[in-house]
Amino acid sequence: MAEFVIETPPVVALPVAGSDASFPVRRVYCIGRNYAAHAVEMGHDPDREAPFFFQKNANNLDPSGEFPYPPHSSDVHHEAEIAVMLKSGGTDIPVASALDHVYGYALSLDMTRRDLQGEMKKAGRPWEIGKAFERSAPVGPVHSVASVGHLSQGAITLKVNGDLKQEGDLNQMIWKVPEMIAYLSEYFELAAGDVILSGTPSGVGPVAKGDVMEIAVAGLGSLSVTVT
Ligand code: MN
Repeated sequence: MAEFVIETPPVVALPVAGSDASFPVRRVYCIGRNYAAHAVEMGHDPDREAPFFFQKNANNLDPSGEFPYPPHSSDVHHEAEIAVMLKSGGTDIPVASALDHVYGYALSLDMTRRDLQGEMKKAGRPWEIGKAFERSAPVGPVHSVASVGHLSQGAITLKVNGDLKQEGDLNQMIWKVPEMIAYLSEYFELAAGDVILSGTPSGVGPVAKGDVMEIAVAGLGSLSVTVT
């Protein structure tokens, strides 16, 4: 094995609930506008159209429970989502067998510099500056399918300082988890360690330093993240 010319970057490792082992992250895909009520609040048609995805970086996932308010934005929004963790992948995966590739699920936040995202949308430019910044995806422990099963329904909520801001049901996803995996695998080769953020229900809004965000999903418990 050849040596590397620089120090090797660390593997992003997420804690697995009920285990000393970790889940290693390869890629992070995020779906846009996957709950009709959220599409409407963002000014779009809620009809089912082809899904679209953007990416965050593996090391944007952050299990620390803290979210440092990022620079160059005065309108940072919370988006409560569930993250789907893959244990295997491939190309052209059929919808019917897509869930066989899922290792587990975690609570997550797709934190967004909404002002910068809006400027990029308006200019027809990529969204990374609004979406893929440092520690932009707080995430809870990974719950294995063996322990929690597959999640296709149940309440997803987000409170800020105890006030309910986001409320939906996983069964309101326009593109279901198996469909997202199948669709992505037509365009990308999916693999073990890939993570899919599955979209957010309506009620997104700004946070400020000191706020405590609490996301909860039946079966996954809750995750508290403080804006620092
Ligand atoms: Mn999102």
